[in-house]
Amino acid sequence: MDFKRIVVKIGSSSLSSKNAKLNFTKIDDLTRQLVDLKNQGRDVILVSSGAIAAGMGELGFVKRPKSIPEQQACAAVGQGLLIGIYNKFFREYGEKCAQILLTSSDLENRNRYLNAFNTLKELLEHGVVPVINENDTVVTNEIKVGDNDTLSARVAGLVEADLLINLSDVDGLYNISPNQNNKDLKLISLVEKINKEIEDMAGGKGSSFGTGGMQTKIEAAKIAVNSGVIMIIGSAEDKNSLLNLVEMAEKKEYNMGTTFLAEKESLSKRKQWLNFNLPPSGKIFVDKGAAEALIKRGKSLLPGGITGVEANFNSGELVLISNGKKIIGRGIVNYSSDEIKKIKGAHSEEIKDILGYFNKSEVIHRDNMVIGGDHYEY
Ligand code: GLU
Repeated sequence: MDFKRIVVKIGSSSLSSKNAKLNFTKIDDLTRQLVDLKNQGRDVILVSSGAIAAGMGELGFVKRPKSIPEQQACAAVGQGLLIGIYNKFFREYGEKCAQILLTSSDLENRNRYLNAFNTLKELLEHGVVPVINENDTVVTNEIKVGDNDTLSARVAGLVEADLLINLSDVDGLYNISPNQNNKDLKLISLVEKINKEIEDMAGGKGSSFGTGGMQTKIEAAKIAVNSGVIMIIGSAEDKNSLLNLVEMAEKKEYNMGTTFLAEKESLSKRKQWLNFNLPPSGKIFVDKGAAEALIKRGKSLLPGGITGVEANFNSGELVLISNGKKIIGRGIVNYSSDEIKKIKGAHSEEIKDILGYFNKSEVIHRDNMVIGGDHYEY
């Protein structure tokens, strides 16, 4: 069996009807398929949207409300409803589920990130299906993951999944906008590398219920494949879509949805956390020599190659590294922005004389750095 651990993400529009009421048939179909996958000996984790959509139906909103408190009120009502329905169906199929609500800051904080991993692992060991959503009732726009496409990809990396299936109302990635009636319209069935051409194919926003669109799905795919996880975007329309997509990917037939193959050299879990979960607090500019040492020779960043600093940050925070033209990587600094302004251009041995104390020779150690530039930008 190729896929021992599968994360499934389902979008709001695939769980609710047009009038924003939950669609029980679809939730039943999804639960049944998840239990079937589990019965095949796999671990399954569900990332389910739909809290806001479910709450909208309850509170009488026909369109997604604009204000954050209104959305949060919907989520508070809807999340309870949603997990109640999942619980009912999982129990009918003889399984248990558990609710996990995450925020962006839970994933930024290293201890909480690892804690979430331990809890998820424990649940899986007990045969429980974790049902994850963003904790919408407490997050504001600034601290939101924002969409469950991204959240599910971060979770897939966190739990070391083999496969992430993103189910929604779209069939996959098209070469041109699927809304156009164009004879050149073609579904891209296999993506071996996410390049600019692929990114350009992703259009704008999705439905009026959820927040994801093809762009967030491609961003999610970047996170997944760089975390060593294969990702499939597929339609939830058919009542056996999930089972069919898993079977297809195991046979490597790629005739449904869009499959993104995992990068061979994926990031370690620590580097995934650093690269995909920590928001940057500033920027460091480096000269040509330092950029080359970082990109080509896998070196740490020393003060000598630094030419400038942007924004204020403390030691221990994540910053972007720029060569003046583009971002070439990111990493956790051993010195604050004020300290770096003083030691930039100097030899590591001079740090003690300049600052009056010495912390580390490197401003960013290689182990705390991810080089990848645009490729990892999101
Ligand atoms: N967390 C939101 C909800 O459950 C959905 C976010 C999304 O649509 O991706 O309603």
